[in-house]
Amino acid sequence: MPTVLVSGASIAGPTTASWLARAGFDVTVVERFDALRDDGQNIDVRGAAREVIRRMGLEEAALAAGTGEQGTVFLGAGGREVARFPASTDDTSGATAEMEILRGRLGQLLHDHGADDVAYLFGDQITGLDQDAGGVDVTFASGKEQRFDLVVLAEGVNSRSRDLVFAQAQRRYLGMVIAYLTIPRQDDDTDWWRWYVAGRGRGVNLRPDDVGTIRAAINMMTDTRGIDDLPREAQTTLFRRTFAGAGWQTDRVLDAMDDAPMYVEDLSQVTLPRWSQGRIALVGDAAWCATPVSGIGTTLALSGAYTLAASLAADTDHRAAFAEYERRMRPFVEKGQSLPPGTPRIANPRTELGRRAFTSVLKVAASPLATSLGGVLGRFTTPPADRYELPDWP
Ligand SMILES: Cc1cc2nc3c(=O)[nH]c(=O)nc-3n(C[C@H](O)[C@H](O)[C@H](O)COP(=O)(O)OP(=O)(O)OC[C@H]3O[C@@H](n4cnc5c(N)ncnc54)[C@H](O)[C@@H]3O)c2cc1C
Repeated sequence: MPTVLVSGASIAGPTTASWLARAGFDVTVVERFDALRDDGQNIDVRGAAREVIRRMGLEEAALAAGTGEQGTVFLGAGGREVARFPASTDDTSGATAEMEILRGRLGQLLHDHGADDVAYLFGDQITGLDQDAGGVDVTFASGKEQRFDLVVLAEGVNSRSRDLVFAQAQRRYLGMVIAYLTIPRQDDDTDWWRWYVAGRGRGVNLRPDDVGTIRAAINMMTDTRGIDDLPREAQTTLFRRTFAGAGWQTDRVLDAMDDAPMYVEDLSQVTLPRWSQGRIALVGDAAWCATPVSGIGTTLALSGAYTLAASLAADTDHRAAFAEYERRMRPFVEKGQSLPPGTPRIANPRTELGRRAFTSVLKVAASPLATSLGGVLGRFTTPPADRYELPDWP
């Protein structure tokens, strides 16, 4: 049995691992955290990725574990409602997808699906990768050393092991920083995603979950880099100053910042000329992060993981399999990374005029006529998740 090390146990890693185990590989997954991470917010599973979930027999469980979000409502000046878009009722479309699930819950389902056939190693990480024609010698932070036939890196956008092997990784900063928080639910909260267009390049989002809390995200347009690396106190100060007086329910989120689980991300897309180097391949955000504003990151991760495993299952020559994986996935990834013009700037206007223009477009898009024409906003709210055909399982 060929041995494979998969690094990263979020979405792409466990999916790749399950499918490779099914193909007869001897798979180990290493995750640098001590357990599966259950943080993260509402993520969408669309189009081709929905089919991956279906083929794993997880569709029913994933729908049952959904957040229950009923749709998206945009709020303008003073927190007044501007436009309302109900959740989708199909595999692919809408700002709120039909399969809308907490990231941690989906990660748990994917992990459990393969857990009997895959060895999971938590609390460790790769520190060295040394490959030759016959395999890859891996050194771990724990001091352990092991040789594998193949290594798959599924470590997300900030993958460190990627940087040991793929010097050519490029990051394109989108000029936006988001802080995600989990805050207590209040009586007047709803099961809609409420998106407050706060002006001056800021946005405040409150989304329901199915565990009795609210998932908040506040985002700002900024040219300053490295905010995600600052100590928590500095981040909190920065967000409080930037959002002071922003209105609606902003203060509730700012007040929660001292204690609530919070994670800050500066949005960067990752591009690489190749996703494999010898016996080492990349998958998911580590290979091609499209960012949360694309609405397709998890869909690409699931589709890519399946495609990589299917290619390796179909061809015993890993070089040919990696080439096939890339041939299939690259056009899909390029579509997913190509954001609508002006994203994310247009949805986070800096001027009052920009805010009025954006909310006017939303009003038109939500009107009955636009809805019956298929939705003017379709390009903005529906990523191209169905423009990919999964390979058959060999
Ligand atoms: C904690 C967390 C919260 C998230 N929240 C959201 C959200 O709210 N909204 C959204 O759109 N997207 C969120 N994402 C990103 C989303 O999961 C991805 O965009 C997408 O699903 C692709 O998943 P991935 O498996 O490629 O990467 P990721 O989901 O980023 O997972 C990477 C995994 O690799 C692990 N890892 C990293 N470095 C190493 C290492 N050196 N060795 C071993 N393991 C390593 C990480 O701990 C993580 O478990 C979140 C990701 C994480 C990790």
